[in-house]
Amino acid sequence: MGSTETKLKSLALSMGADLIGVTSKDILADGPPSADPRYLLPSAKSVISFAVSLDKDIAKDFINKKKWLPHCHNRKAIAQTLYTIGDALVEQLRSEGYKAVNVDLNNNYRPEEGAADVTEMTKFHPDFSHRYAALAAGIGRLGWSGNLLTREYGALVELGSVLTSAALTPDTPISDKEHPCDKCKMCSLVCPVGMIRPRASTQVTVAGVTETISNKRPNTCCWIGCTGYEGLATSRTWSNWSPYRLGRPLPEDRQDFDALCISLQKADPQMQAADNYFSNYRQAVFDPDWFYYTVCGFCRSVCAPQREERLANRKLIIDSGTAALKLDGSHEVADENACEVQTPYGLRVVVAHEELSKGPAKTRKWPGQFPLDREVIKYLCQQLNSADARDCATD
Ligand code: SF4
Ligand code: SF4
Repeated sequence: MGSTETKLKSLALSMGADLIGVTSKDILADGPPSADPRYLLPSAKSVISFAVSLDKDIAKDFINKKKWLPHCHNRKAIAQTLYTIGDALVEQLRSEGYKAVNVDLNNNYRPEEGAADVTEMTKFHPDFSHRYAALAAGIGRLGWSGNLLTREYGALVELGSVLTSAALTPDTPISDKEHPCDKCKMCSLVCPVGMIRPRASTQVTVAGVTETISNKRPNTCCWIGCTGYEGLATSRTWSNWSPYRLGRPLPEDRQDFDALCISLQKADPQMQAADNYFSNYRQAVFDPDWFYYTVCGFCRSVCAPQREERLANRKLIIDSGTAALKLDGSHEVADENACEVQTPYGLRVVVAHEELSKGPAKTRKWPGQFPLDREVIKYLCQQLNSADARDCATD
Protein backbone atom coordinates (compact mmCIF):
# COMPACT_ATOMS: atom_id res chain seq x y z
CA MET A 1 0.00 0.00 0.00
CA GLY A 2 1.42 3.40 -0.98
CA SER A 3 1.96 6.08 1.65
CA THR A 4 -0.77 8.38 0.36
CA GLU A 5 -3.41 5.65 0.81
CA THR A 6 -2.12 4.86 4.31
CA LYS A 7 -2.19 8.49 5.32
CA LEU A 8 -5.69 9.04 3.95
CA LYS A 9 -7.11 5.91 5.53
CA SER A 10 -5.58 6.66 8.94
CA LEU A 11 -6.91 10.20 8.78
CA ALA A 12 -10.47 9.07 8.00
CA LEU A 13 -10.41 6.36 10.67
CA SER A 14 -9.11 8.82 13.26
CA MET A 15 -12.04 11.12 12.45
CA GLY A 16 -14.74 8.51 12.96
CA ALA A 17 -14.94 6.47 9.75
CA ASP A 18 -15.74 2.84 10.53
CA LEU A 19 -14.83 1.47 7.11
CA ILE A 20 -12.73 2.87 4.28
CA GLY A 21 -11.51 1.64 0.90
CA VAL A 22 -10.16 2.87 -2.41
CA THR A 23 -11.20 2.19 -5.97
CA SER A 24 -10.41 3.66 -9.36
CA LYS A 25 -12.13 5.23 -12.34
CA ASP A 26 -10.99 2.27 -14.46
CA ILE A 27 -12.43 -0.31 -12.05
CA LEU A 28 -15.75 1.55 -11.98
CA ALA A 29 -15.85 1.82 -15.79
CA ASP A 30 -18.16 -1.19 -16.28
CA GLY A 31 -20.80 0.27 -13.93
CA PRO A 32 -23.93 2.36 -14.64
CA PRO A 33 -23.42 6.06 -15.55
CA SER A 34 -23.56 7.20 -11.91
CA ALA A 35 -20.45 5.11 -11.18
CA ASP A 36 -18.34 7.45 -13.33
CA PRO A 37 -16.41 9.91 -11.10
CA ARG A 38 -15.50 12.08 -14.12
CA TYR A 39 -19.03 13.53 -14.11
CA LEU A 40 -18.01 15.61 -11.07
CA LEU A 41 -14.25 15.64 -11.54
CA PRO A 42 -13.08 15.22 -15.16
CA SER A 43 -9.50 14.42 -14.04
CA ALA A 44 -10.61 11.79 -11.50
CA LYS A 45 -8.45 8.67 -11.33
CA SER A 46 -9.42 7.32 -7.89
CA VAL A 47 -12.25 7.30 -5.39
CA ILE A 48 -11.96 7.00 -1.62
CA SER A 49 -15.11 5.48 -0.15
CA PHE A 50 -15.88 5.56 3.56
CA ALA A 51 -18.71 4.54 5.86
CA VAL A 52 -19.92 5.48 9.33
CA SER A 53 -22.31 3.15 11.14
CA LEU A 54 -25.57 4.31 12.65
CA ASP A 55 -26.33 3.56 16.30
CA LYS A 56 -27.94 0.12 16.35
CA ASP A 57 -29.85 0.53 19.64
CA ILE A 58 -31.22 3.89 18.57
CA ALA A 59 -32.31 2.36 15.24
CA LYS A 60 -34.11 -0.43 17.13
CA ASP A 61 -36.04 2.09 19.21
CA PHE A 62 -36.94 3.78 15.92
CA ILE A 63 -38.26 0.71 14.12
CA ASN A 64 -40.34 -0.48 17.06
CA LYS A 65 -41.76 3.05 17.51
CA LYS A 66 -40.44 3.53 21.02
CA LYS A 67 -38.50 6.69 20.11
CA TRP A 68 -38.64 8.72 16.93
CA LEU A 69 -36.24 11.62 17.44
CA PRO A 70 -32.94 9.97 18.47
CA HIS A 71 -32.58 8.19 15.10
CA CYS A 72 -33.28 11.47 13.24
CA HIS A 73 -30.59 13.18 15.34
CA ASN A 74 -28.18 10.27 14.87
CA ARG A 75 -28.54 10.53 11.08
CA LYS A 76 -27.83 14.25 11.18
CA ALA A 77 -24.74 13.81 13.39
CA ILE A 78 -23.39 11.10 11.08
CA ALA A 79 -23.98 13.25 8.00
CA GLN A 80 -21.91 15.98 9.67
CA THR A 81 -19.15 13.46 10.44
CA LEU A 82 -19.10 12.24 6.83
CA TYR A 83 -18.86 15.78 5.43
CA THR A 84 -16.09 16.58 7.90
CA ILE A 85 -14.10 13.45 7.01
CA GLY A 86 -14.52 14.14 3.29
CA ASP A 87 -13.35 17.74 3.72
CA ALA A 88 -10.23 16.58 5.58
CA LEU A 89 -9.37 14.07 2.85
CA VAL A 90 -9.86 16.74 0.18
CA GLU A 91 -7.61 19.13 2.09
CA GLN A 92 -4.91 16.48 2.45
CA LEU A 93 -5.02 15.58 -1.26
CA ARG A 94 -4.96 19.22 -2.34
CA SER A 95 -1.98 19.86 -0.06
CA GLU A 96 -0.16 17.19 -2.07
CA GLY A 97 -1.04 18.92 -5.34
CA TYR A 98 -3.98 16.74 -6.43
CA LYS A 99 -7.48 17.75 -7.39
CA ALA A 100 -10.19 16.43 -5.08
CA VAL A 101 -13.96 16.69 -4.60
CA ASN A 102 -16.04 15.74 -1.56
CA VAL A 103 -19.22 14.30 -3.11
CA ASP A 104 -22.47 15.63 -1.63
CA LEU A 105 -24.07 13.02 0.60
CA ASN A 106 -27.60 13.23 -0.72
CA ASN A 107 -30.13 15.03 -2.90
CA ASN A 108 -27.80 15.77 -5.81
CA TYR A 109 -29.49 14.33 -8.86
CA ARG A 110 -28.51 14.46 -12.50
CA PRO A 111 -30.79 16.70 -14.57
CA GLU A 112 -33.75 14.95 -16.14
CA GLU A 113 -35.24 15.93 -19.46
CA GLY A 114 -38.49 17.81 -18.96
CA ALA A 115 -38.02 18.18 -15.18
CA ALA A 116 -37.69 21.81 -14.10
CA ASP A 117 -36.70 20.89 -10.53
CA VAL A 118 -36.72 18.03 -8.04
CA THR A 119 -40.52 18.09 -7.76
CA GLU A 120 -40.74 16.94 -11.38
CA MET A 121 -38.03 14.30 -11.21
CA THR A 122 -38.87 10.62 -11.40
CA LYS A 123 -35.57 8.79 -11.87
CA PHE A 124 -33.34 10.37 -9.21
CA HIS A 125 -29.98 9.29 -10.65
CA PRO A 126 -27.24 10.74 -8.41
CA ASP A 127 -24.28 12.75 -9.65
CA PHE A 128 -22.14 9.97 -8.25
CA SER A 129 -23.23 6.77 -6.57
CA HIS A 130 -21.72 6.23 -3.12
CA ARG A 131 -23.02 2.66 -3.18
CA TYR A 132 -21.22 1.65 -6.36
CA ALA A 133 -18.00 3.19 -5.08
CA ALA A 134 -18.33 1.36 -1.76
CA LEU A 135 -18.91 -1.94 -3.56
CA ALA A 136 -15.86 -1.44 -5.77
CA ALA A 137 -13.71 -0.33 -2.82
CA GLY A 138 -14.48 -3.50 -0.82
CA ILE A 139 -16.63 -1.87 1.85
CA GLY A 140 -19.72 -3.94 1.15
CA ARG A 141 -21.93 -5.54 -1.46
CA LEU A 142 -25.40 -4.73 -2.74
CA GLY A 143 -28.17 -6.57 -0.94
CA TRP A 144 -31.50 -7.69 -2.37
CA SER A 145 -32.82 -4.26 -1.30
CA GLY A 146 -30.21 -2.53 -3.45
CA ASN A 147 -28.75 -1.04 -0.25
CA LEU A 148 -25.04 -1.35 0.47
CA LEU A 149 -24.53 -4.15 3.00
CA THR A 150 -21.39 -4.44 5.07
CA ARG A 151 -20.22 -7.57 6.88
CA GLU A 152 -19.70 -5.58 10.08
CA TYR A 153 -22.85 -3.45 10.38
CA GLY A 154 -25.26 -4.89 7.83
CA ALA A 155 -26.97 -2.07 5.95
CA LEU A 156 -26.92 0.28 8.94
CA VAL A 157 -24.30 2.64 7.52
CA GLU A 158 -24.13 6.01 5.80
CA LEU A 159 -21.61 6.49 3.00
CA GLY A 160 -19.29 9.23 1.77
CA SER A 161 -16.96 9.48 -1.23
CA VAL A 162 -14.02 11.65 -2.25
CA LEU A 163 -12.95 11.79 -5.90
CA THR A 164 -9.36 12.64 -6.73
CA SER A 165 -6.90 13.01 -9.59
CA ALA A 166 -4.35 11.02 -7.53
CA ALA A 167 -3.63 7.50 -8.77
CA LEU A 168 -4.15 5.52 -5.56
CA THR A 169 -3.74 1.78 -5.05
CA PRO A 170 -7.24 0.25 -5.16
CA ASP A 171 -8.72 -2.33 -2.79
CA THR A 172 -10.64 -5.35 -4.07
CA PRO A 173 -14.39 -5.97 -3.80
CA ILE A 174 -15.72 -8.50 -1.27
CA SER A 175 -15.91 -11.96 -2.86
CA ASP A 176 -19.19 -13.75 -3.67
CA LYS A 177 -18.32 -16.27 -0.95
CA GLU A 178 -18.35 -13.55 1.70
CA HIS A 179 -21.43 -11.76 0.35
CA PRO A 180 -23.34 -10.34 3.36
CA CYS A 181 -26.83 -10.74 1.78
CA ASP A 182 -28.39 -14.19 2.18
CA LYS A 183 -31.62 -13.17 0.35
CA CYS A 184 -33.75 -13.50 3.48
CA LYS A 185 -36.11 -10.89 1.89
CA MET A 186 -36.84 -9.18 5.22
CA CYS A 187 -36.24 -5.88 3.41
CA SER A 188 -39.16 -6.65 1.07
CA LEU A 189 -41.42 -7.52 3.97
CA VAL A 190 -40.85 -4.26 5.88
CA CYS A 191 -41.31 -1.80 3.04
CA PRO A 192 -44.72 -0.21 3.61
CA VAL A 193 -45.12 0.73 -0.07
CA GLY A 194 -43.90 -2.57 -1.53
CA MET A 195 -40.94 -0.98 -3.31
CA ILE A 196 -38.69 -4.05 -2.99
CA ARG A 197 -40.34 -6.85 -4.93
CA PRO A 198 -39.65 -10.16 -3.17
CA ARG A 199 -39.33 -12.36 -6.25
CA ALA A 200 -38.62 -10.37 -9.45
CA SER A 201 -34.89 -9.78 -9.85
CA THR A 202 -32.55 -7.74 -11.99
CA GLN A 203 -28.77 -7.56 -12.29
CA VAL A 204 -26.28 -4.76 -11.98
CA THR A 205 -22.56 -5.00 -12.75
CA VAL A 206 -19.90 -2.79 -11.15
CA ALA A 207 -16.18 -3.39 -10.71
CA GLY A 208 -16.39 -6.81 -12.37
CA VAL A 209 -19.00 -7.91 -9.83
CA THR A 210 -22.54 -8.79 -10.89
CA GLU A 211 -25.19 -8.38 -8.21
CA THR A 212 -28.63 -9.97 -8.43
CA ILE A 213 -31.01 -7.63 -6.66
CA SER A 214 -34.74 -6.99 -6.47
CA ASN A 215 -36.32 -5.55 -9.58
CA LYS A 216 -37.80 -2.72 -7.58
CA ARG A 217 -40.85 -0.62 -8.30
CA PRO A 218 -40.20 2.86 -9.77
CA ASN A 219 -38.01 5.21 -7.70
CA THR A 220 -41.05 7.44 -7.19
CA CYS A 221 -42.52 4.58 -5.11
CA CYS A 222 -39.74 4.85 -2.51
CA TRP A 223 -39.98 8.64 -2.71
CA ILE A 224 -43.64 8.35 -1.67
CA GLY A 225 -42.85 5.97 1.19
CA CYS A 226 -39.60 7.48 2.38
CA THR A 227 -40.82 11.10 2.27
CA GLY A 228 -43.86 9.91 4.19
CA TYR A 229 -46.71 10.63 1.77
CA GLU A 230 -47.87 7.07 2.50
CA GLY A 231 -46.74 5.33 5.66
CA LEU A 232 -49.26 2.52 5.99
CA ALA A 233 -48.41 -1.04 4.98
CA THR A 234 -50.94 -2.89 2.82
CA SER A 235 -51.83 -5.09 5.82
CA ARG A 236 -53.01 -1.80 7.48
CA THR A 237 -51.70 -3.07 10.82
CA TRP A 238 -48.40 -1.20 10.89
CA SER A 239 -46.77 1.85 9.32
CA ASN A 240 -43.48 3.66 9.23
CA TRP A 241 -43.28 6.89 11.27
CA SER A 242 -45.43 8.79 8.80
CA PRO A 243 -48.96 9.72 9.91
CA TYR A 244 -50.00 10.42 6.29
CA ARG A 245 -52.25 8.23 4.19
CA LEU A 246 -53.15 8.42 0.52
CA GLY A 247 -56.51 6.82 1.21
CA ARG A 248 -56.31 4.72 -1.94
CA PRO A 249 -54.17 1.84 -3.23
CA LEU A 250 -50.84 2.70 -4.80
CA PRO A 251 -50.76 2.51 -8.60
CA GLU A 252 -49.19 -0.40 -10.44
CA ASP A 253 -48.13 1.45 -13.56
CA ARG A 254 -44.87 3.46 -13.66
CA GLN A 255 -46.46 6.47 -15.34
CA ASP A 256 -49.24 6.61 -12.75
CA PHE A 257 -46.67 6.33 -9.95
CA ASP A 258 -44.60 9.14 -11.40
CA ALA A 259 -47.66 11.37 -11.92
CA LEU A 260 -48.82 10.74 -8.34
CA CYS A 261 -45.40 11.52 -6.90
CA ILE A 262 -45.13 14.76 -8.90
CA SER A 263 -48.58 15.89 -7.79
CA LEU A 264 -47.77 15.18 -4.13
CA GLN A 265 -44.47 17.00 -4.34
CA LYS A 266 -46.11 19.99 -5.99
CA ALA A 267 -48.59 20.17 -3.11
CA ASP A 268 -45.98 19.63 -0.37
CA PRO A 269 -45.27 22.89 1.53
CA GLN A 270 -41.66 21.82 2.04
CA MET A 271 -41.03 21.75 -1.70
CA GLN A 272 -42.41 25.28 -2.15
CA ALA A 273 -39.79 26.84 0.13
CA ALA A 274 -36.91 28.35 -1.87
CA ASP A 275 -34.43 27.22 0.77
CA ASN A 276 -35.64 23.64 1.13
CA TYR A 277 -32.91 21.18 1.90
CA PHE A 278 -32.86 19.81 -1.63
CA SER A 279 -31.20 23.04 -2.73
CA ASN A 280 -28.27 22.69 -0.32
CA TYR A 281 -28.04 19.47 1.63
CA ARG A 282 -24.67 20.27 3.21
CA GLN A 283 -25.94 23.59 4.53
CA ALA A 284 -29.02 21.90 5.99
CA VAL A 285 -26.95 19.22 7.72
CA PHE A 286 -24.84 21.83 9.53
CA ASP A 287 -27.78 24.12 10.37
CA PRO A 288 -28.42 23.64 14.12
CA ASP A 289 -32.12 24.37 13.60
CA TRP A 290 -32.63 21.90 10.77
CA PHE A 291 -34.52 18.77 11.73
CA TYR A 292 -33.58 15.61 9.87
CA TYR A 293 -37.14 14.36 9.37
CA THR A 294 -36.82 10.61 8.96
CA VAL A 295 -39.88 8.40 8.81
CA CYS A 296 -38.72 5.31 6.97
CA GLY A 297 -35.51 3.60 5.86
CA PHE A 298 -36.96 0.39 7.33
CA CYS A 299 -35.39 -1.68 4.51
CA ARG A 300 -32.02 -0.59 5.81
CA SER A 301 -32.74 -0.68 9.54
CA VAL A 302 -34.07 -4.24 9.39
CA CYS A 303 -30.89 -5.49 7.74
CA ALA A 304 -28.52 -6.57 10.53
CA PRO A 305 -25.52 -8.81 9.79
CA GLN A 306 -27.15 -11.88 11.42
CA ARG A 307 -30.32 -13.44 10.01
CA GLU A 308 -31.83 -14.01 13.49
CA GLU A 309 -31.52 -10.32 14.21
CA ARG A 310 -33.17 -9.46 10.90
CA LEU A 311 -36.11 -11.74 11.75
CA ALA A 312 -36.36 -10.09 15.17
CA ASN A 313 -36.20 -6.62 13.62
CA ARG A 314 -38.98 -7.49 11.21
CA LYS A 315 -41.13 -8.59 14.15
CA LEU A 316 -40.41 -5.30 15.93
CA ILE A 317 -41.64 -3.43 12.85
CA ILE A 318 -44.82 -5.37 12.20
CA ASP A 319 -45.73 -5.33 15.91
CA SER A 320 -45.04 -1.59 16.26
CA GLY A 321 -48.47 -0.29 15.26
CA THR A 322 -49.16 2.82 13.19
CA ALA A 323 -48.08 6.44 13.54
CA ALA A 324 -50.24 9.46 14.38
CA LEU A 325 -49.53 13.20 14.39
CA LYS A 326 -49.91 15.27 17.54
CA LEU A 327 -50.73 18.94 17.34
CA ASP A 328 -47.37 19.85 18.86
CA GLY A 329 -45.63 18.30 15.82
CA SER A 330 -44.51 15.11 17.47
CA HIS A 331 -45.42 11.68 16.13
CA GLU A 332 -46.68 8.87 18.35
CA VAL A 333 -48.19 5.41 18.10
CA ALA A 334 -51.88 5.70 17.21
CA ASP A 335 -54.45 4.12 19.50
CA GLU A 336 -57.74 2.58 18.36
CA ASN A 337 -59.53 5.94 18.59
CA ALA A 338 -57.20 7.80 16.24
CA CYS A 339 -58.89 9.66 13.38
CA GLU A 340 -58.04 10.13 9.72
CA VAL A 341 -58.66 13.69 8.55
CA GLN A 342 -58.47 14.95 4.98
CA THR A 343 -55.87 17.72 4.45
CA PRO A 344 -55.52 20.25 1.59
CA TYR A 345 -52.33 18.47 0.47
CA GLY A 346 -53.85 15.44 -1.24
CA LEU A 347 -53.29 13.34 1.87
CA ARG A 348 -55.17 12.23 4.93
CA VAL A 349 -53.50 12.52 8.29
CA VAL A 350 -53.93 10.27 11.32
CA VAL A 351 -54.42 12.29 14.50
CA ALA A 352 -54.99 11.16 18.07
CA HIS A 353 -58.68 11.56 18.93
CA GLU A 354 -57.96 13.52 22.12
CA GLU A 355 -56.04 16.06 20.06
CA LEU A 356 -59.15 16.80 18.01
CA SER A 357 -61.53 16.80 20.94
CA LYS A 358 -59.52 19.29 23.00
CA GLY A 359 -61.05 22.24 21.18
CA PRO A 360 -59.19 25.02 19.33
CA ALA A 361 -55.49 24.90 20.04
CA LYS A 362 -52.72 27.36 19.45
CA THR A 363 -50.03 26.03 17.16
CA ARG A 364 -47.35 24.96 19.58
CA LYS A 365 -43.79 25.21 18.40
CA TRP A 366 -41.92 21.98 18.78
CA PRO A 367 -38.35 21.59 17.53
CA GLY A 368 -39.25 18.62 15.37
CA GLN A 369 -41.79 20.43 13.29
CA PHE A 370 -41.51 19.69 9.62
CA PRO A 371 -43.06 21.94 6.91
CA LEU A 372 -45.82 19.48 5.95
CA ASP A 373 -46.59 18.70 9.62
CA ARG A 374 -46.53 22.40 10.47
CA GLU A 375 -49.00 23.36 7.73
CA VAL A 376 -51.25 20.42 8.51
CA ILE A 377 -51.26 21.36 12.20
CA LYS A 378 -52.17 24.95 11.31
CA TYR A 379 -54.99 23.64 9.14
CA LEU A 380 -56.24 21.29 11.85
CA CYS A 381 -56.18 24.07 14.43
CA GLN A 382 -58.26 26.28 12.14
CA GLN A 383 -60.72 23.47 11.58
CA LEU A 384 -61.08 22.40 15.16
CA ASN A 385 -64.42 24.12 15.63
CA SER A 386 -65.85 22.75 12.46
CA ALA A 387 -67.45 19.38 12.02
CA ASP A 388 -64.88 18.51 9.31
CA ALA A 389 -61.99 17.91 11.62
CA ARG A 390 -64.04 16.09 14.22
CA ASP A 391 -65.48 13.74 11.65
CA CYS A 392 -63.16 10.82 11.69
CA ALA A 393 -62.72 9.87 8.07
CA THR A 394 -61.74 6.37 9.01
CA ASP A 395 -62.49 3.67 6.50
S1 SF4 B 1 -32.84 -7.92 4.51
FE1 SF4 B 1 -32.06 -9.92 3.81
S2 SF4 B 1 -32.49 -9.99 1.62
FE2 SF4 B 1 -32.71 -7.86 2.26
S3 SF4 B 1 -30.72 -6.97 1.80
FE3 SF4 B 1 -30.69 -7.61 3.96
S4 SF4 B 1 -29.82 -9.69 3.95
FE4 SF4 B 1 -30.42 -9.18 1.85
S1 SF4 C 1 -36.88 3.62 2.51
FE1 SF4 C 1 -38.88 2.86 3.16
S2 SF4 C 1 -40.18 3.22 1.36
FE2 SF4 C 1 -38.08 3.32 0.63
S3 SF4 C 1 -37.63 1.22 -0.06
FE3 SF4 C 1 -36.93 1.40 2.08
S4 SF4 C 1 -38.63 0.66 3.32
FE4 SF4 C 1 -39.43 1.11 1.26
